[in-house]
Amino acid sequence: MSPDEGKPFIVFGAPRIEREEIDEVVATLESGWLGTGPRVAAFERAFAHYKGIEPGNAAAVNSCTAALHVSMIAAGLQPGDEVITTPLTFCATVNAIIHSGATPVLADIDPVTMNIDPRGIEERITPRTRAILPVHFAGRACAMDAITAIAARHELRVIEDCAHAIETEYRGRKAGTMGDFGCFSFYVTKNVVTGEGGMVLARNDADIGRVKMLALHGMSRDAWHRFSDSGYRHYQVVECGFKYNMMDLQAAIGIHQLARVEANWRRRQELWERYQHAFADLPLVRPAAAAPDTRHAHHLYTVLIDEARCGISRDAFLDAMTARGIGVGVHYLAIPEHPFYRQRFGWRPEEWPNAMHAGRQTVSLPLSARLGDEEADRVCRAVWECLGSA
Ligand SMILES: *Cc1c(COP(=O)(O)O)cnc(C)c1O
Repeated sequence: MSPDEGKPFIVFGAPRIEREEIDEVVATLESGWLGTGPRVAAFERAFAHYKGIEPGNAAAVNSCTAALHVSMIAAGLQPGDEVITTPLTFCATVNAIIHSGATPVLADIDPVTMNIDPRGIEERITPRTRAILPVHFAGRACAMDAITAIAARHELRVIEDCAHAIETEYRGRKAGTMGDFGCFSFYVTKNVVTGEGGMVLARNDADIGRVKMLALHGMSRDAWHRFSDSGYRHYQVVECGFKYNMMDLQAAIGIHQLARVEANWRRRQELWERYQHAFADLPLVRPAAAAPDTRHAHHLYTVLIDEARCGISRDAFLDAMTARGIGVGVHYLAIPEHPFYRQRFGWRPEEWPNAMHAGRQTVSLPLSARLGDEEADRVCRAVWECLGSA
């Protein structure tokens, strides 16, 4: 069989954790302050600095799902309001819209970029539309000039789902700073990791103030100030908020992850180029190159497996890769494929044909900065073994 038989399984999206993170977590435990405190504040400042925004305009939370949820409430969405988003995203994007009380409306993707097509957004606008929620899929920037122009014309708010897009740039602007809100994930497979974690960026001060309050029970002052040694200060609950704050224990990891964000990006870019080159003669469809004047975050390397051309179905390819010790992912089955959304909204996948086809053919290959050259070559050999005879 293959020369790679018996080699260790390559875990999809395994994070690259180094000594600094481990030492900082231990120091946090020893400090006695595990909850929201100085390390969260430092992580927020560092993230704001990375994004080139004011330090006060970033709020750390405990997931991107939480970030999306509080952003939409802070955006003033009301029951019956409609939010337009993409069908090719993680379920959390759509669930957060529903939890905010609003109604999700899907606009199909562009089959080349895999991102929401601005023309589809325009077609789905109704008198109830209040916001657009673009997702920078795989780390590729959405067509933000067109999207923000539509938003301005129809007085809509823009909430960017930047779960894949920490390093993404679009015509000189950074992902998460082009809309009213930018929401980031530090989940274990994402480009910067805190275990669970997220961040909200908001352009205006009133919005970020509301996000910070909503993320901590609706209390008017955060816990760190409350228990500082400058005297006891009462908090006031001014609205019914959530328990969405990040812990210092999580920020301890994030601070050192963020310091290495560019080095990790360069490694993923090398892996990306290696794959692009290795698969040039295979019948799969490789991801499109980034558009000019943009920066791709290289979060996911996704290929399309069309059974008619590849001689193997997408699902059989997933199994064949797994059998060769390569962890693979599917990002994503289109949202209308899932029973909940079909039942709740009456959606059928065929209504969004581009997302449906992409979701049924897509496979994500390992792209962690942790991957060595030898492991990357194993991935390439496995793909060739599965498809090379087609
Ligand atoms: C991971 C992800 C989320 C959710 O992030 P969490 O931090 O796990 O809540 C939301 N949207 C997209 C596109 C994602 O990939």
